[in-house]
Amino acid sequence: MKPHSFQLLGCRVDALGLNAAVKAILEAIDDVHAGHGEPAFVVTIGTEMIVRAQHDEIFRQTLARARFSLCDTIGVLLASRLRGGPLRERVVGVTLAERLCELLAKRGDSVYFLGAAGDTAEAAAIGLKIRYPGLQIAGSRDGFFRFEESSEVAQTIRATGATLLLVALGSPKQEEWIDRHLRETGCAVAIGVGGAFDVFSGRVPRAPAAWQMLGLEWLYRLIKEPQRWRRQLALPHFVFLAAREVCSAALPRKEPRR
Ligand code: UDP
Repeated sequence: MKPHSFQLLGCRVDALGLNAAVKAILEAIDDVHAGHGEPAFVVTIGTEMIVRAQHDEIFRQTLARARFSLCDTIGVLLASRLRGGPLRERVVGVTLAERLCELLAKRGDSVYFLGAAGDTAEAAAIGLKIRYPGLQIAGSRDGFFRFEESSEVAQTIRATGATLLLVALGSPKQEEWIDRHLRETGCAVAIGVGGAFDVFSGRVPRAPAAWQMLGLEWLYRLIKEPQRWRRQLALPHFVFLAAREVCSAALPRKEPRR
């Protein structure tokens, strides 16, 4: 069944909380395994991605093809609430990926880790395996391969028989890679998870729980990695665009003159 969704600045956001999203993704996996479902491309959509989609039409279309478009950031959640939308919580990529690994560990389905620098993907897989000993690691590789090598990478993943593919290439690269190559990998589900491997590997600390609850991971990250300030200019830009959209939706429409 298609989840309820709403449009924010031309991007679809599905009104699914964490538990509902996990349930829908597990159902998608079951459908593929039963031979009557298409592989599912999952996006956890954030403010930066929505701002990019305003001027990058290819990226906007890529996002539109995702089976699930889940609300990753506080800005998207607040914009939804201001418009009276049904969304009540975020589905943060790191949390979603970890919860799926926990549940797949119990089912015996395997996970492939693609992305990040050096041996971070492998370290992320090992970190999760320590937390969830039943987790089947199908394989891992870094995210610094050439564009022309993509099919070879996808074939390598296919050979492992992985069920879930976590892709940490940063946005928009990871969404575009999944959109293009998911079928080739043979995986039932793929999710773009940004900097999640850096966190799972323990090499980058996750924002403390209180900061996460307030939706301030972006501020924590800015303090830890001040060189990201330019990217984070997307946030005030998003606030401006979203406020303009909310106001124009609230204003009465002008009737055309007869
Ligand atoms: N990365 C990669 N290949 C690339 C570019 C980036 O594997 O060509 C990795 C990078 O090492 C990092 C992750 O992608 O681990 C991107 O993290 P970031 O936090 O920048 O992603 P975001 O979620 O902010 O887009």
